[in-house]
Order: sequence, then structure tokens, then C-alpha cells
Amino acid sequence: MELPELTILARQMKDELVGKQISEVKIANPKCLNMPFKQFVKAIIGRTIKSVANKGKWLFIELDLDYFLLFNPGMGVDIIHFETSNQLPEKVHIKFTLNDQTGFSVRVWWFCYLHLVRKNKLIEHKLTGKLGISPLDKRFTLNLFKSLLIKRRSNIKSFLLDQKNIAGIGNVYIQDILYNAKLHPKRKIPSLSATEIEALYASMKSVLKESIELGGLAYERNFYGEKGGYGKKQFKIAYKPDNPCPICQTPIQKIKTGSTSSFICSNCQPLNVKNGEATN
Ligand SMILES: [Zn+2]
Repeated sequence: MELPELTILARQMKDELVGKQISEVKIANPKCLNMPFKQFVKAIIGRTIKSVANKGKWLFIELDLDYFLLFNPGMGVDIIHFETSNQLPEKVHIKFTLNDQTGFSVRVWWFCYLHLVRKNKLIEHKLTGKLGISPLDKRFTLNLFKSLLIKRRSNIKSFLLDQKNIAGIGNVYIQDILYNAKLHPKRKIPSLSATEIEALYASMKSVLKESIELGGLAYERNFYGEKGGYGKKQFKIAYKPDNPCPICQTPIQKIKTGSTSSFICSNCQPLNVKNGEATN
């Protein structure tokens, strides 16, 4: 789950949940909480949901009395709305019931975080306090992007995946984002030309926006349990090892880049660039 899926989820949750009161909460594994379960329940029962938004890969559920419920889906989750609690899917890890008997259930693939934080403590929250700007935020201009890259020495892929720099891109969308900009994931930031930075900026926006328009990734579900429409057909090189590059037909390679895997066309995304001429 990356920025498009979380953006869609936050919009749908906002539509369904705002103005409703939390009347019951069930949590199978309280390890996801930042406080003992009893304390969490005491604080959260009776709270009214005021707003839902996402910041990068985190959901921010704003409650009355200046509380925020912060949720991170980890490797992935199904957060599904229910009309009455007898429609619940079988294996549910977290369940919120609201005062009109609707609510939502959470099924976690691996782990998740569900932290209750007071508004005045948000800035100190370790996992979200330092999140970078969303690439779809209106304030994320080309000039701002350029300013974030100044004096940075790392490779471009690890920079983009670091949620403190820019929040919301993960190892799925990054593949085609870099491919569109013809950038090898290991290119060092100081080696990027102005044209390449502009191409990267445009690619980030276009890939993420297209996915939102299509409802997010085809293997992820939205708040109504429906799968998205962004899948194999939309991916250019992501998760397509040995397929031909759509531009030059070179077989797509899967390579290791630090702790992540990358899919690249070695011809379109050369690692070494000298005097404006690409060499492999
Ligand atoms: Zn190619």
C-alpha cells in the first residue's frame, strides 16, 4: 500500500465515518498500540470522528478532544467498511463499531501500527512527526523538489523511499517512476542533470495520479472491498523481469539495490552517465 491506495482509503473513510461516534473497539493483538489496551479503550470510546486524511503511508483519523488515531498498514491491510457487524469477513484483527452500528474492520497481512496521540504531541510522534511532504501536495513544486535534493549524496532510489524526504512512495511505484525518468535506481543525486530532475518530478506525479484515477493497485482493496484497476497492464517494467522494455525491447532485469529489489532496463536507465552520453 502506497500513496494512491492510502489516498483513496482516506477519502472513502472520510465520506463514511465523519460525525460518527466510536462505540466499541476490538483488537486481536494489542502490540500494534502505543499504550495498554485498557487505556486505549478508555480514551477512545465515545470519541467522534472529525476527519480522515493520509500523510504518506499513514492514515490520520482526527477525533474530538484533540485526539488523533494514527494508522500504518505495514506490508498491507484490508480496511473494510461494514454496514452491520454480521457482514464481517472471517479473519479480522481490529474492529471499530460506531454508534449507528456501522464500522470498519482491519485485516493485517503482517503487522500494523495503531497509535493514539494527542494533537499537541503529534510533532513528537516518532514514526510520523518527521514525515516528508506528499508528492501530490500542492506545495510540492519542482523548486521545492530541487531544494530537497541539494547537498544530498545518496542514490536517488533510497532518497525517494526515505519517508522523511518525501512521504508515500514505496517499492512498487518507484520502479516505473524511475523508468519514466530514465534513471537507474543507483544514480547518485549529485550526478542528476536539471532535465533529469524535471523528468523525475513529472514522473512521480503522473504515475501516482494515474493510479489514483484507476482506483489504486489491482491487488489492494478499498474501503468497500473493491480491488483497484492499476495492474500489469499499467506497469511498464515493475515486476516484469525478462519482459521486453516497452521502448527498446531490452529484457527487463531484476537487480538488488540495497535491501530492495529493482526492475530496470539497463539500456534506458544506464548507471554511468558521462558528458551527457550514457554508457553501460
Ligand atoms: Zn529500454
